[in-house]
Amino acid sequence: MALTASGGEVNDKPLLQVLPDGFYTPRLSVMANNRTHDGIRSVFHLEQRPGVISLLAGKPHSSTFPITSLNFTVRDPANPQSEIPIELSQEELEVGLQYSPTVGLPALVDWAYGLQEIMHGRKVGEGWKISIGNGSQDLIYKAITALVNPGDPVFVEAPVYAGVIPMFQTLQCEIIELETDSQGICPESIFSALENWPISKPKPKVLYTVPYGCNPTGTTATLERRLAVLELARRYDFLILEDDPYHFLYYGTSPRPPSYFSLERGLPEAGRVIRFDSLSKILSSGFRLGFVSGPQAIVRAMDDHSTVANLQPNSLAQVIALSIFSRWGYKGFSEHTERVSEFYRKKRDVFQAAMERHLAGIAEWTVPEAGMFMWFRLVVDAGENDSDSVIRTTALERGVLALPGTVFYPNGRKSAYVRASFSQLDEKQVDEALKRLREALLDGRT
Ligand code: PMP
Repeated sequence: MALTASGGEVNDKPLLQVLPDGFYTPRLSVMANNRTHDGIRSVFHLEQRPGVISLLAGKPHSSTFPITSLNFTVRDPANPQSEIPIELSQEELEVGLQYSPTVGLPALVDWAYGLQEIMHGRKVGEGWKISIGNGSQDLIYKAITALVNPGDPVFVEAPVYAGVIPMFQTLQCEIIELETDSQGICPESIFSALENWPISKPKPKVLYTVPYGCNPTGTTATLERRLAVLELARRYDFLILEDDPYHFLYYGTSPRPPSYFSLERGLPEAGRVIRFDSLSKILSSGFRLGFVSGPQAIVRAMDDHSTVANLQPNSLAQVIALSIFSRWGYKGFSEHTERVSEFYRKKRDVFQAAMERHLAGIAEWTVPEAGMFMWFRLVVDAGENDSDSVIRTTALERGVLALPGTVFYPNGRKSAYVRASFSQLDEKQVDEALKRLREALLDGRT
């Protein structure tokens, strides 16, 4: 293991073997295999050929755009009290206001490769590829569309990020909920699902998980569980969708466990992890920027989807992000993300203290070590078996809004859990919210 720029650890074992492109072809969905290519974007790169005069693209002329300059300031990560002025050059501005490559601006893609090497020990040229998307949500949807056929069985951790449930439901998938606890996915639930699997029925091809500061549970999966899931992926031949928007919001006291993407390096063959990073929690959620790192054949299939769905990620957001990251360097980026995680650690502490004050004896919870969510189980009569009605009605009437656990179970399971987000509120608001929740729960007691 080696220490990374941000104090985490990566697996620096040599990569033994990468699964070949042909491995993925039968695993791609019918839609991905049938997708045809747009005759314009597929020759876009020829515009860069020296000496070529391009009559190709229907690009608007940038002199007709009304924005003539863009200046802004960013915090100096080494000294957050001071600001660094940034002025986009005319060339940068022109790139930002214009159409740009489907996979993202080359310089930002390069920055992301560098980051993945620092954070996860994965090197360029080892059979994987990065593409930028309009937020990680955009990329997760494209990956699912590229891999899953209507009606396919899929594994999801349960409870699961509510934002992926409709993706699988719309495809009428058989959604197999894997049990989780405070350590992450329970490997036995993968075994028990597959133990009696009918021989003639195709097995799940993908497993979806949020490994750090999970949405909704706040759980960070342990190293042992990650290794067990990776081993099962190899044994039972499924791919892991590692959705990791809370990676940089890890504030646990023990070292951050390595990502699935990093742990693959130590396996006899790599190429079963498709990793999703998001800039939403660390740069701006409004920029809509995220990137996928995964096997080339899968990411290329996702790129083909982009060419028909939205052409490319937002150019201007990419140019601005790049200007900030170039100015900061990876060191500044790491200082910045450490500060962000420290911010959420303090928010977690405030929320946890208020939970102790108001909900001790009424709810039970595990303290999260990453992310922005507290997931707690109601133990009073009002919601002991099902938090849905007390949270949706009594709590709302008292003026507090949270999410009942049912929202995170795709198959309609009842849940005594509640998800509360602690990212936005100050200490006074947290205290008031949990006071109201306590009253609602005691009020609703049967
Ligand atoms: N995955 C998870 C687990 C999330 O919580 C979110 C944001 N709520 C997303 C994906 C989407 O992130 P982005 O803004 O990068 O699209």
